[in-house]
Amino acid sequence: MQRIGVFVCHCGSNIAATVDVSKVAELALMEPGVVHAEDYQYMCSEAGQAKIAAAIQEKNLTGIVVCSCSPRMHEATFRKAAERAGLNPYMVEIANIREHCSWIHKDIEEATKKAVILMRAAVAKVNLNTPLQAGESRVTKRALVIGGGIAGIQTALDIADAGYEVDIVEKTPSIGGRMSQLDKTFPTLDCLGIKTFPTLDCSACILTPKMVEAAAHEKINIYTYSEVDKVSGFVGDFTVDIRKKARSVDMDKCTGCGVCQEKCPSKKSLNEFNRGLNNRSAIYTPFAQAIPNVPVIDRDACIKFKTGKCGICSKVCQAGAIDYEQKDEIITEKYGAIVVATGFDTIKLDKYDEYAYNQSKDVITSLELERVMNAAGPTHGHLERLSDGKAPKEIVFIQCVGSRCSDDRGKPYCSKICCMYTAKHAMLIRDKYPDVNVTVFYIDVRTPGKNFDEFYRRAVEQYGVNYIKGQVGKVIPQPNGKLLVQGADLLDNKQILKEADMVVLATAIEPNPDVRKIATMLTASIDTNNFLTEAHAKLRPVESPTAGIFLSGVCQGPKDIPETVAQAGAAAVKAIGLLAKDKLLTNPCTAQADVLLCNGCSTCENVCPYGAITYEDKEVNDHGIRETRRVAVVNNALCQGCGACTVACPSGAMDLQGFSNRQIIAEVDAICR
Ligand code: FAD
Ligand code: SF4
Ligand code: SF4
Repeated sequence: MQRIGVFVCHCGSNIAATVDVSKVAELALMEPGVVHAEDYQYMCSEAGQAKIAAAIQEKNLTGIVVCSCSPRMHEATFRKAAERAGLNPYMVEIANIREHCSWIHKDIEEATKKAVILMRAAVAKVNLNTPLQAGESRVTKRALVIGGGIAGIQTALDIADAGYEVDIVEKTPSIGGRMSQLDKTFPTLDCLGIKTFPTLDCSACILTPKMVEAAAHEKINIYTYSEVDKVSGFVGDFTVDIRKKARSVDMDKCTGCGVCQEKCPSKKSLNEFNRGLNNRSAIYTPFAQAIPNVPVIDRDACIKFKTGKCGICSKVCQAGAIDYEQKDEIITEKYGAIVVATGFDTIKLDKYDEYAYNQSKDVITSLELERVMNAAGPTHGHLERLSDGKAPKEIVFIQCVGSRCSDDRGKPYCSKICCMYTAKHAMLIRDKYPDVNVTVFYIDVRTPGKNFDEFYRRAVEQYGVNYIKGQVGKVIPQPNGKLLVQGADLLDNKQILKEADMVVLATAIEPNPDVRKIATMLTASIDTNNFLTEAHAKLRPVESPTAGIFLSGVCQGPKDIPETVAQAGAAAVKAIGLLAKDKLLTNPCTAQADVLLCNGCSTCENVCPYGAITYEDKEVNDHGIRETRRVAVVNNALCQGCGACTVACPSGAMDLQGFSNRQIIAEVDAICR
C-alpha cells in the first residue's frame, strides 16, 4: 500500500479565486493511500518545495500528487524536489487544476468539484506507480543547421565560436538567404532630428563578411545545393542523411572565373535571384558574392542535358571542372543538436487579381523593388518602369497585401516587417529621385522597434512621403500605360483615384514551403500558419517541443534582421548548452511488449514515429509450452513514450511504463466514481 501526500497549490489567486483549495486538500485525505494533505500559496516556491520535502521525510511518503498548474510548467520542479527528499521522481503526479480547471471555469462550486475529480484521478494513478530509473545516452558534439540565411549563418557562427563543429545545409547554390537579395536595410542608428539621410546599411556589405567568416571557419562545414533527406535518432544522437545535389561542376577544380556562364548559349532561364525579372544562363552562380563561388548547371535548361549537344561550358573551362556525369550524393552524419533556420518566402499573388500584378509589369512586389534598386539587379539599380524603361513620376505603395486578412486568400497575421521596409523604400526613392511622388496606402503603421517610429516619421516629415490611411480596392491598367489606383482615405472619408506609373505591393511573408517536410522529418510541430512552434511561447521561444531541435529566424515567425540575429544567437546558446553535456538522462516512460501477448503482427512497428520497434525471435514459455516466437522489441533509447504503439496494438501487448493501461483505467474509474 502506498503512503501518498497531496499538495494543493493556490497559485496566488490563479487557482484559489476559483477553486476551494482547502476543500480539495480535506477531501484528498479520504482517498485510498492518502496519509497527508495540505494546501499552500505557492507550492513551486522555495517554501512550498520545503513543505513537500518535509512531508516526504516525516510521513515516509511513497508517492505524491501536486494539484497545481500544467505539468509542462512545473513537473520537473516537483520531481527534483521529491528526489532531493529521497523519493523516486517518477512517484510524483500532477493534477492540473489551473489550466484545466480554474482558468477555464467561473463557478467556484463547479470548479472545486472538478478539481477534486482531477485530484482523485492523480491519486488513483500514483497508487499504481512504480519507481523508474532514467537511463543515459551519449551526446554527439556536433550541430546541424538547416538553412543558410542570416539566421542559419549566425547560429552556426555562434556554435562554432564556442568550439563545436557545425554543418550548414542550404538548399540553394549559395548561402545568404533573402538578406542577400535586399539592397539597403533598416534599422538605422541615428535618431530623429538629424537632418541627414539615414544610414541604411547596404545589405551585401554587412552580410558578405558573415558569409565569408562562416565559410572560412575551421569548425563550420557548408553543404550548399543540398537538402536533408532523412532524420532518425533522438536528442543528443541524431543520424541525418544529406543529399548533395549534383552541381555538374567539380567544387574542388572550379576557380570561379565565370567563363562558362558567359559562353553558355542557353540564356533564357528566369533568374530566381532577381525574382524572375530578367534571365540567366543554364550554368549560373546566383549572385556575384555567392558562397561558394562555384556555378551550378540547371539541368532543365542545359542544352547538353536536353539534347546531348553543346558542351560549350566544358570546352571553355580551363580548370576542367565541368562534370556532366556527376550524381546526387548521400552523406550520412551524426549530430547532437539540430537548428532549423529555413526562413520564408513572399506569398503568391494569384488570388489578388484586383492589384493587377499579373496584368502589368509595373505592378511589382517589394522584394522585386529591392532587386530593381540594386546595382546588380535587372535595371542595374535605376528606378524605371519594367514595361518601357521610363522613369516613373508617381509611385504608389500598398501595404498589408495578404497580411492581416480575415478571408482565406491571405494570412491572418501581421508580417511585421512591411511597414518598416515600405518607409525605407519610400525614403530611398525620395532621396535619390526627389521629383518622384510617393504615396503609401496603409491600414495601420506598426513601428514598435527601437528608433522605428522616428524612422517612419522621418519618411513623412523630412521626405514628404504621402501616407493615406485606407485600403486600395483596385489597380486598373490604363491604355496610356499608367495605372489607375482606386482607394479610400478613411481619415478624410473620401474615395481616391490616383494615376501612378508604378505600384509596389508589400506582400505578406509565409514560412518556406519546405517547412512541413522538415517538421515531419524532425517530428517538430508547426502552427496553423506553418510557422514552427516553440516549446513555450514565453519561456522557451527558441526550442521546439521536440528535444534537441531548436528554432532560428523567420521559420518560427515574422521578424526583421536584428530580431533574427538575436534569436539565432539564442538558439545557438541552447544548442551549445546541450552539446556541452557528455550524457543525457533518457525518459524511462518507454513502451514494452508483453511477449506472451505479442503476435508479431508489425502493427506497432508501422505506427512508431521514432523507428523504435524491431522484431526478434524469442523463446517464450506460454503456460508451460516453450516455443520460439517473433515478438516486438522496443529500443528504449529511441522510444519517446508517445504511446502510439500501445493504442495500435490489436492484442494489447504494448504498454507504457509510467502510463500503463491499468493506470489509465484507474484514472478513468476515479473520474467516473
Ligand atoms: P531566409 O533569409 O529566408 O533564409 C532561409 C534560408 O534557408 C534560405 O537560404 C533558404 O534557401 C534556406 N532553406 C529553406 N528551406 C530549406 C531546406 N529545406 N533545406 C535547406 N535550406 C533551406 N529586415 C531588416 O531588418 N531590414 C530590412 O531592410 C529588411 N528589408 C526587407 C525587405 C523585404 C522586401 C523583405 C521581404 C524582407 C526584408 N527584411 C528586412 C526581413 C529579412 O529579409 C529577414 O528578417 C531575414 O532574411 C530572415 O532571415 P532567415 O535566415 O530567417 O530567413
Ligand atoms: Fe570557370 Fe570552369 Fe568554374 Fe565555370 S566551371 S567558373 S569555367 S572554372
Ligand atoms: Fe515508438 Fe511506441 Fe515508443 Fe511511441 S511509445 S516512440 S510508438 S515505441
